[in-house]
Parts: sequence; structure tokens; C-alpha cells
Amino acid sequence: MAIAETFVARVFGRAPSEATSGPHRDSRRRVPVWSWVTRRCRIGARRDSSDARRRPDLTRGHRAAREARCFCSLRIKEPTVIKSHGYAAKHSFSRLKLFDFDREEAGADEVEIAVMYCGVCHSDVHQVKNEWSNTVYPCMPGHEAVGKVTRVGANVTRHAVGDIVGVGCMIDSCRSCPACLAGFENYCEGPNSWLATYNGPMVPAKKAPTGENMYGRDNTMGGYSDTLVVKQDFVLKIPAGLRPEAAAPILCAGVTTYSPLRHWKVQAGDKVGILGFGGLGHMAAKIAKAMGAQVTVFTSTREKLDEAARLGVEGVMEDDKKALAPLKASFDFILSTVPQKHNVNPFVELLKRDKTLVAVGALEPLAPINNMETAMHRKSVAGSLIGSIAETQEVLDFCARHGIGPDIEIIPIQQVNDAYDKVEDGEVRFRYVIDMATLADEVKD
Ligand SMILES: [Zn+2]
Ligand SMILES: [Zn+2]
Repeated sequence: MAIAETFVARVFGRAPSEATSGPHRDSRRRVPVWSWVTRRCRIGARRDSSDARRRPDLTRGHRAAREARCFCSLRIKEPTVIKSHGYAAKHSFSRLKLFDFDREEAGADEVEIAVMYCGVCHSDVHQVKNEWSNTVYPCMPGHEAVGKVTRVGANVTRHAVGDIVGVGCMIDSCRSCPACLAGFENYCEGPNSWLATYNGPMVPAKKAPTGENMYGRDNTMGGYSDTLVVKQDFVLKIPAGLRPEAAAPILCAGVTTYSPLRHWKVQAGDKVGILGFGGLGHMAAKIAKAMGAQVTVFTSTREKLDEAARLGVEGVMEDDKKALAPLKASFDFILSTVPQKHNVNPFVELLKRDKTLVAVGALEPLAPINNMETAMHRKSVAGSLIGSIAETQEVLDFCARHGIGPDIEIIPIQQVNDAYDKVEDGEVRFRYVIDMATLADEVKD
């Protein structure tokens, strides 16, 4: 045995090949081997040392050590990568096209997923075009992914190979802030906020108070790809009653509308208004109706009044003053799904005293709120962002139980750029879902 190997064998009580084989526990020391390695590696991983102490399960510490070529890096196994393919944009002005990249194989707590379907969300379009000024390129969108589990890490207990699972907007969070501890990862207050499924983390290192990146990744690649590797806690179970392609949009559009309906305690018999009748709006209408609410949708597109009738809800043109006048002070809750700056004041007038209008579509300033109206009747205008992992599972189960799901149009990945144009023009009826099997037509290897 070589000198270095003898040393390692003494410290670990086993041959070095065993020490590099995974996050198992050393029965003699009763300390996770990787934890010891991570602490030992602080010379090489200075930048990450505080977080490595708190989260020894993270692989980032090991990566940092390897890059720094510190003492311990000699014994750290290089992660095996999965050659992956997807559709990405290289610049804000370029279209999405085939992009080859590597994903690290599943770690002990991770699940590997062969993506079957991925929904097209309006925020994908915003992100690809850098409309929020935070896009990191190449940008591979997709946060409504459903697929089959192909491999699980050693510690995974929640999912098994062959399960149909979903991945929504988040793939990790800090897990230690008040929001995370309360089960609301979507409001994570950690230095980097939550780790978005693509273009993550939400707060990159350069904007974090500490200048660090606890996730070790500054540009995650989303579900417009053939594979995803995700921590088991952030992987959702798709109930048997939901078709995988129909489940995909529930992972963002569904939970984004379900979460505020639940938080503001919408009940059977409540009068609920939905402003905007696209991808989010039609899911909101279906979910609120399934909750037993009396639903009215406000739309700017006359043809969508027929769609409202088809769903069994009231449809009103949002600029029809004659139709709006008798609705004043009659709603228990209004959800605005309009995806850009808009004037909510005419709809705040429709709320009863003490009730709330929640905007989920526009992540930007709204037109100024008329506080005379809100003060005179103690009304609120609020916001809400996607939903927690628990709420995402809840809405999937809710949709399966009530036999509801989004109206979808399945497209091959090769049509995704045209789909984006239609999403921007508001032509969609109502959610595009990409059949990821069509990616194979372009992949050579
Ligand atoms: Zn989305
Ligand atoms: Zn957190």
C-alpha cells in the first residue's frame, strides 16, 4: 500500500477507494465521511467553509476542494456526469435551439429524472429575453417538468425508479431561514433565496449580502431537457389520476393560483373574481370552481367569453363599465393573473369590505393603487409567489381528486420558438406543453 493510502486507511479505517465511494457513514467514527473530508478541506474551500459546516451534505464543498487541489482533493471522487441535451438560448436576442451540456449524476439525496413533458410558462419568455435583467446565458428554461425516475441516490426514500414525478419552480432552498422552517421555501430569506429550477439561484452571489453562493451553481438548467437531477425533497409525486402531460402546468400555473386561494381561505359559496384568462387565469378559474366558489373571469378578449361559458363560469369583458357597475362591493376575493403592469383599481372597487385582491402575474410595479378606495373600506392589495413544495403536492392531489387539469396543447420542442411568439401575443388556448421525446429527433449520439 502506498504511503498516502496507508495514511488514509489509518484515518478512515478503510482503503481510500472506499472513502471516495459515497456519503456512507464510518461506523467506527460515527461521523459522515464526507463531513470529515469537507471540514478537513477548508484550506481548499475557504470561500464555502461556513456553509460546508452547516450543510455537510452539499457537494459544493467537495467541488471547491477539488478545484483548489487541496490535500484532501486527492481522495475525492470526481462526480460522474450525464451527457444531457436540451433547448437553450445563448443571448437575449437569440432563439432557443439544441444545446448539449453535462449534469452531475445524482448525489445521495438526489433523484435523476428522464423528462417526458415540460410546460411553457409566460415567465420562460420573460427570462429568455432578459426582460427581468437577471438572465444568465445560456438560458435553458422549463419549470413545469414531469418525467420518470431513472435513478435514485443512496439516501432517497421518497421516490423510486419508475415513479412519475414532477419538478416545479424550485430545486432547493436554504432550509434554515424562518420561511423555510415554516415550510414556505418559496419565500426563502436565505442569502441566495431559493434555487430556481433554471437561471438559479434567485439571488446570485453578486447580489447576496455575503457575496457567496451557497448552492455552488449560478446557472441551473431547466426542464426543456432530457434529464433533471433534483434533491428528493423538491421532487413532487404525480398522482395516478393525472395524466403526466396535464400535470406539468400544475407545477407552476396550478400552484401559483392555488396557494393564494388557500392562504386567503376561499370557501364554498365565496364570490371569486379572476382577472386575466390565460394560462394562470384558466387554472385559477377551474381550481376556485372546484373549491365551490362562484367564479367570474374578467378578460380583454371577447372570444374567451365562450371559453368561460365552457368552463361553467361567468365571463365579463374587463372594460365593460356597464357590466362592472352592478358588481361593485360584491366579491370575496379577486386574483389578478395579468402578466404585466396593469391598473387594478377598477377591480378593487368590486371587493367587499375587508377583502383582498392578490396579484400573481406581474412581478413588477402595478399602476398606483387608489388608497381612498382601500382605506374607505379597509381593502387590501397583495402579492403571492408560486407556492411551497407542500402546497404544490396539495394542488396536484386536489386536481386529481376533482378531476381537473389545465387545457393543454402538446407541441414538439422544435416548435417552442413559435409557441413563445403566441404566448407573447396572448393567443394561447391555454398552455403549451412540450413533448420532450421529440428532442431525440435532433440528438445525434
Ligand atoms: Zn412558471
Ligand atoms: Zn430559506
